Amino acid sequence: MTVHVDPAVLVEIALANGDRALYEDQRIHLIGCSECRRELHALGCVVRAARSANPGDLITEPPECVWRSIQQRMRMTEDSQVSIAGRACRSGVRWCGTSS
Ligand SMILES: [Zn+2]
Repeated sequence: MTVHVDPAVLVEIALANGDRALYEDQRIHLIGCSECRRELHALGCVVRAARSANPGDLITEPPECVWRSIQQRMRMTEDSQVSIAGRACRSGVRWCGTSS
C-alpha cells in the first residue's frame, strides 16, 4: 500500500515559498508519485491565487453554473432524505419525536 504525503504537509510545502530544507522525505516521495505532485500543484495554484489577490479586488458572484450545481446537489440531498423517510414509513420505523 502506498503511503502518500499527508495533505497537511502538502499544504505546508505549497506555502513554504520553495524552502527546500523542509520535509525532505516528503519531497523525495513527490519525485516518484504523480498523485501527490498533482495535489501539490493544485495547492500551489490556490496559494498563488490567494497571494496575488489585492484588498481592492472586487468580490464577484460565482458563474451561473456554480449555482446550478449547488441547486442540483441540494435537490439530490433532499430526494435522498425523502427516500430514506419514505422507506422508514413503509417499514414501520418511527422517527424520534413523532407522536403516533
Ligand atoms: Zn503520493
